[in-house]
Amino acid sequence: MLIAGAGETGARAAAALRETGWSGPITLVGDEAHAPYERPPLSKAVILDATDPKPATILGPQRLRDLDITLLAGRRVERIDRAARRVRLSDGTVLDYAKLLLATGASPRRLPIQGAGPDNVLYLRNFADALRLRARLGQGGHLILIGGGFIGLEIAAGARSRGVAVTLLEAAPRLLSRGVPAPAAALIAARHREAGVRIVTGARIASISSEGDCHRIRLEDGSCLDADGIVAGIGALPNTELAASAGLVIENGVAVDATLRTDDADIFAAGDCCSFPHPLYGDRRIRLEAWRNAQDQGNVVARNMLGAGEAYEAVPWFWSDQYELCLQTAGLADGAVRLVTRDLGDGAALWFQLDTGGRLLSATGLGPIGKVAREVRLAEMLIAARAHPDPLALASSGQALKAMLRAA
Ligand code: FAD
Ligand code: NAP
Repeated sequence: MLIAGAGETGARAAAALRETGWSGPITLVGDEAHAPYERPPLSKAVILDATDPKPATILGPQRLRDLDITLLAGRRVERIDRAARRVRLSDGTVLDYAKLLLATGASPRRLPIQGAGPDNVLYLRNFADALRLRARLGQGGHLILIGGGFIGLEIAAGARSRGVAVTLLEAAPRLLSRGVPAPAAALIAARHREAGVRIVTGARIASISSEGDCHRIRLEDGSCLDADGIVAGIGALPNTELAASAGLVIENGVAVDATLRTDDADIFAAGDCCSFPHPLYGDRRIRLEAWRNAQDQGNVVARNMLGAGEAYEAVPWFWSDQYELCLQTAGLADGAVRLVTRDLGDGAALWFQLDTGGRLLSATGLGPIGKVAREVRLAEMLIAARAHPDPLALASSGQALKAMLRAA
């Protein structure tokens, strides 16, 4: 069992293969120097940490030994020879496989802007990026964040708590326009403004010029902004080069079926790098970039590499922490026509999105974690049950979601 990519999905799949009873060899190949580690802290605790931060390791040396998993770190899988069921690594090593898992993740989308290059624009995907950003924050001054998605907003919160002046440029008319309902995004924007973040929406960047640590961003409307540092968080693209060079089908990610198998019966793909048909959403092909999806797909794909043939149908779910606020979303809102708000008290709220037939598609909670986590969990179960809850009941905090779940 060979796994290309030692991130969240690859590490979980490796452990799950052993937990499921596979007694043969398991090899995990990762191009980073570290043992597999968690990415969510990179935009949260790591950039705040006053002392010397370390990666939050998922599979350290002891656990790798206990599970008898071979980790080949600091090496890339460069080529797949499908006919011979063999891969070649960047150091020349050749490895055979019975089943191969592609868990290669995603990479930051680069700014397609004149003057933007690796020397003047920072991105955040791995631990080395987080250390560079943390050092930048330590110098204070003015930071410009490009992109009002999760990376931009979580870094904005961290930068403000370190006393750095922040301007956030978002190209769309509002923040978090993909997947987070407008009223929730408006509350998040208000919290950032209260913390001192200057938010500019509809911002179209024309060019960037830099001299050392002094940067100037010119917008298409002719205005200019000066900064001591620039970070772009404008989305992520799936790492598909390896699969594409082996002739596997690519469709917004490595295309897999419901069991996470590619068009080659011996090769699977999971996590940020793959797109798969989701039974909850009419088998529409989707690609998710979220921690729990990486975990869940890692578990399911391991069982399927051992022949289980299990369909992956978990409800999409992600969270984000900004200041004292916790944002959690279950489900996907595409196709929603109705938004229902439920006030949870203490400044917390839940937004439900329903389709034309009244089916619950997604639920977003915002507020202190203790207020939102349980409610979003119940909403997630309603979504999994394809429930059509009464919108009036959803809006009333006196009507328990648990009762609606029983009725569904
Ligand atoms: P990755 O974790 O990216 O792992 C892929 C690994 O494969 C990488 O180490 C890559 O270098 C390696 N690789 C690529 N190609 C090769 C090759 N050919 N050979 C060998 N190795 C290769 N999600 C949430 O739900 N909540 C959060 O709060 C949250 N915070 C995040 C914060 C940050 C800064 C980032 C970057 C992501 C965050 N996520 C969050 C998303 C979550 O971390 C990802 O969805 C998850 O890491 C995906 O796991 P993966 O294994 O598919 O990819
Ligand atoms: P993202 O959430 O897709 O957000 C990117 C944002 O940047 C979008 O709002 C996008 O607007 C905007 N944008 C795109 N091009 C722009 C431009 N030229 N100028 C200004 N704004 C622009 O992606 P991300 O925040 O970069 O995150 C990258 C990855 O990290 C993802 O995989 C994400 O899941 C992961 N991550 C997740 C979390 C979390 O879940 N809590 C936290 C951190 C990171 P449009 O939508 O209009 O294109």
